Amino acid sequence: MPAFSSFILKLRNFMSGRNGVDKLTAGLLVIYCAVAAIKIFFRGFPIVWIIVSVIQYLFLAYIIFRVFSRNLQKRYRENFKFEQFLNAWKPYFEHLKLRIQYAGTHRFRKCRYCSEFLRLKKGRGKRTVTCPKCGKELKFYFLF
Ligand SMILES: [Zn+2]
Repeated sequence: MPAFSSFILKLRNFMSGRNGVDKLTAGLLVIYCAVAAIKIFFRGFPIVWIIVSVIQYLFLAYIIFRVFSRNLQKRYRENFKFEQFLNAWKPYFEHLKLRIQYAGTHRFRKCRYCSEFLRLKKGRGKRTVTCPKCGKELKFYFLF
């Protein structure tokens, strides 16, 4: 398909020297979709609907601006800061992921000696566990 390949070529020419999609843009796109989803709940509130819509389109405008921006240095710096932010929050995200993953079958408790998070099987009653990090014995009582 010569027409298609020439289109790709033109697109590649157009995008050269531009930022394209980086991690920050992808992150903003996720937020954009989340805002779009949240908007459904505000159908009955015109003012809130308008405010959320404005926020949504500002996000979209910023996403488009970032993708086509030629100020690569500035965009790289922004993206780098975003990656640093993600790395700083990584342990919390991973803990949240585990909590969601095991929500149906396990409970999470903190070790009162070393603050290590413990994943315990659900089930009523008393139990004694040994913390894998500090080796101390902990007693828990689950009501349900
Ligand atoms: Zn411990």
